[in-house]
Amino acid sequence: MEIARRQLTGVKESKMEASKTLSDFIALCHKIYAHDFVPGSGGNASIRLGDRIVITPSGISLGKLEETDLVSIAMDGSVIGKGKPSKEWRMHMNCYERADVNAVIHVHSPYAVAIACLKELDTTCAMPVYTPGYSVRVGALPVVPYYRAGSTELADSIIAIMAHRNSLLLENHGLLTVGVTMDQAFNLVEEVEENAHLHFTLGGAGKPLTREQQEDLTGKY
Ligand SMILES: [Zn+2]
Repeated sequence: MEIARRQLTGVKESKMEASKTLSDFIALCHKIYAHDFVPGSGGNASIRLGDRIVITPSGISLGKLEETDLVSIAMDGSVIGKGKPSKEWRMHMNCYERADVNAVIHVHSPYAVAIACLKELDTTCAMPVYTPGYSVRVGALPVVPYYRAGSTELADSIIAIMAHRNSLLLENHGLLTVGVTMDQAFNLVEEVEENAHLHFTLGGAGKPLTREQQEDLTGKY
């Protein structure tokens, strides 16, 4: 009896946890929209919830999203229940190949997109590193080549880099970040957007951190 009761309580608790996680996720989506990181109905986000992924749907603005709009995907890529997932769902699923990733965010934030559209883009380091915080948390931001949004090619292009990094740019498109938590993934979006904003504000007059200054920060920040 005691074991059965404990098991029942456990189920109740995990249901409560899941419902809290989902309401936190909706709050995150609204925050992404409120920060102007996803114009129109663009951008998408997802979280790992037990043995499934919960992702934002296709064609609905993140600013207007409600819990009932969310779509669940099993780890084999099949949709559980109703709904049409974001067309970038494959890209999200590829990020969850890493066991420590619990949240994925893809945005079209204006300054990061502007960087991703530059003619002369260094695909190993998209923009100069201006501040210590950005150096430590993002550093040399890589870029994957342009592929059509929602294509398998785009989804596959991020695998090698995301195996060992938490952020990258999609050429002529946007930004992708991952985190152990939703906050971590969101903070990376803010970091990249702020460094990109700085880059254009400085207009070529900026003095980035040197390689030595960046190396000196390793493990000390
Ligand atoms: Zn996109």
